[in-house]
Amino acid sequence: DTETDHYYVSNDDVHRRWKPRARFSHKGTYGHALLVAGSYGKTGAAILAARALLRAGVGLLTIHTPVRGYAILQQAVPEAMVSIDPFEEYASTLPSSDGYSVIGVGPGLGQADATVKMMRKILETYRKPMVIDADALNILAAHRELLLRVPAGSILTPHPKEFERLAGKTANEFERLEKQKELARQLKSVVVVKGAYTSITSPGGVVYFNTTGNPGMATGGTGDVLTGILTGLLAQSYTSLDAAILGVYLHGLAGDLATHDLGEDSLVASDLVTYLPAAFLKVS
Ligand code: AMP
Ligand code: MG
Repeated sequence: DTETDHYYVSNDDVHRRWKPRARFSHKGTYGHALLVAGSYGKTGAAILAARALLRAGVGLLTIHTPVRGYAILQQAVPEAMVSIDPFEEYASTLPSSDGYSVIGVGPGLGQADATVKMMRKILETYRKPMVIDADALNILAAHRELLLRVPAGSILTPHPKEFERLAGKTANEFERLEKQKELARQLKSVVVVKGAYTSITSPGGVVYFNTTGNPGMATGGTGDVLTGILTGLLAQSYTSLDAAILGVYLHGLAGDLATHDLGEDSLVASDLVTYLPAAFLKVS
């Protein structure tokens, strides 16, 4: 048939999906996110994701991180609680994940054997939606049996290299898009392949191309900020597709607003967090 199966996301589309906060709400209304991120030398990724998560409007945030990251995170992100892993340098053991509305996992995680074991445990026990990024995706790519355990309604956010590890090499972008649709269908989850014109595929085979963002965002840590935004939205009452469409758009818009003031050359990932409030004001 000739039904449209791809869209370019506009400010109106995003405005329709955005939900204002209710007058008599409280922090419980906006979910409790668990962010599993950071390892020795990569605590910055956890900070970026955590700060973005809070600016995306989550009610409560707990960050699970190894011992070395503890004091740094408490200083850098005073709004968050920290769950301390028994291991010094990388995450190995997740405490009970009951009570969390969503888990965001991956930024700065590393791929130590103990971390792979932890991922296995999470995927065996946790059935609510997750946001899966970075090394968490690399772990799924290296341990394919885990990939099939991704909870339905999750959001995966590979950049093209991570996507290739998950789905195999493709000859061109059309073939890649077909594989991206196939993965979303198979996992009943939303797959976001990042770059200029980030593509978002729904489990039903619809593709959304994002229209915000600029080459200033081609710099370390911007993907970690996106993971935080998506986890923060998913913790609230957004569907995974709405969270992905809204979150990817806001992330790019924050980049555009930051670039307007700072220029593309100087933009750094933290600037996206700084400009996220202005991006929200533009879509609200
Ligand atoms: P990562 O590679 O995980 O750090 O993610 C990079 C982030 O920056 C993704 O959200 C990309 O969509 C964004 N990004 C990178 N390069 C560009 C570009 N040239 N134009 C727009 N967005 C970009
Ligand atoms: Mg990344």
